[in-house]
Amino acid sequence: MADEDCIFCKIVAGEVPAEKVDEDEHTLAFMDINPWTRGHALVIPKQHARNLYEVSDESLARTMSAAKRLAVRMRDALGAEGINLLNSTEPAAWQTVFHFHVHVIPRYEDDPLRLPGQPMEPGERELAQIAAELGG
Ligand code: AMP
Ligand code: ZN
Repeated sequence: MADEDCIFCKIVAGEVPAEKVDEDEHTLAFMDINPWTRGHALVIPKQHARNLYEVSDESLARTMSAAKRLAVRMRDALGAEGINLLNSTEPAAWQTVFHFHVHVIPRYEDDPLRLPGQPMEPGERELAQIAAELGG
């Protein structure tokens, strides 16, 4: 079911314009309007889901297959030297558009993109404690 307030559902419906780069029965890929590198695109399932917590396994698998297809095309057609895949789920993780999407970001040796975070230095036993909480 499309969400009537969702900008990406409107792109799927053709009600909002987008620079489409790939489409199949279940997924759509289009250029991000504020790209981080040359060729930065988004892949979405056509079926609305808020984010990673809610997307069906089937939609997720189809979206990741489409992301791989696009990544290969970015390498071959744009000369990308690498790829980052990014998904943000919920505002704490920077999600701003609440229709599941995967950023496919072509990377170039000389591009300006830098990791925003610094690695933490976990204390002794901390990793083991967290792994235990996660069920390891
Ligand atoms: P996120 O922070 O992961 O939710 O990313 C949402 C992304 O969607 C951002 O990179 C925006 O630049 C992009 N975006 C928002 N609206 C549009 C639109 N109408 N067409 C293309 N990209 C969009
Ligand atoms: Zn939607």
